[in-house]
Amino acid sequence: MSNPELIASIATMQEASRRAKQRGTLALVPTMGALHDGHLSLVRAARAACDAVIVSIFVNPMQFGPNEDFERYPRSLDSDLEFLKREQVDFVFLPDKAEMFPAGDTGTLVEVPQIGNRLDGAFRLGHFRGVATVVAKLFHITLPDMAFFGQKDAAQVAVLRAMVRDLNFPLKLIVCPTVREPDGLAMSSRNRYLTSNERAQSLVLYRALSQAHSEAHSGIRNAGKLRDTMMRVMQDEPAAEMEYVEVVDPDTLLPIEDVSEGALLAIAARVGGTRLIDNVLMPPARSVQCG
Ligand code: AMP
Repeated sequence: MSNPELIASIATMQEASRRAKQRGTLALVPTMGALHDGHLSLVRAARAACDAVIVSIFVNPMQFGPNEDFERYPRSLDSDLEFLKREQVDFVFLPDKAEMFPAGDTGTLVEVPQIGNRLDGAFRLGHFRGVATVVAKLFHITLPDMAFFGQKDAAQVAVLRAMVRDLNFPLKLIVCPTVREPDGLAMSSRNRYLTSNERAQSLVLYRALSQAHSEAHSGIRNAGKLRDTMMRVMQDEPAAEMEYVEVVDPDTLLPIEDVSEGALLAIAARVGGTRLIDNVLMPPARSVQCG
């Protein structure tokens, strides 16, 4: 088991990527660290699909609002590197803030209008501008043939699909299914913030999605009815403060009336101070088989 090559400089990463691409295909898995099995499922899918794998670890200040958790976002570099060594990752790209954003707040921004202001974008102003800007930079720095993202962040997937299409990035964006704890809670670095009480209360998101999903399976096509079901289940847990409960088109993130042609059921809520998101995609077969 060899250690991944750790690279902090953009110039060195670009050079290493160019060399790796001469030998075969190259995958990128962008992360903010504090790795869990959800991240590792992306790494395994990348490993299976490409000859070489880069994992980036960068807690991107540009995607956090002024009152959000940038400072206290979990950081666990030593154990992250141990995981990535076990997964036989070739390169770990860990730039610091000055390397990624030398122009500070005056640099070029990538904006995906409309889609970027829906779902999470409506509650976290500027969030998807920060995501799109950093991911565009990571694509230019690492030059991947394929880039791997999780369905867990469904709005992010919609924003990045639009960006890849609109800016003609020469790569394939691969979306992997949400990895869950045995009781259904979607894995997230932010789950570390939850007390055991809050951890139990957080299961309401999965309960609401599961209930609506099984109603859809039993033939209910009306999006409003499915949304009502999710709202009812969410309201049974007073500790969960809802941000949104929506049934939308997975590409445009606009509300739909009928789920026959596919739908994204999506919820965001706060439990304690922790913001949680989860979703179910119908039908789920839009993503490739991962992990
Ligand atoms: P993050 O470190 O939270 O920015 O996540 C990095 C990548 O991992 C993103 O593409 C996420 O969608 C993905 N991811 C996070 N949690 C999960 C999960 N539970 N299942 C699958 N992918 C995930």
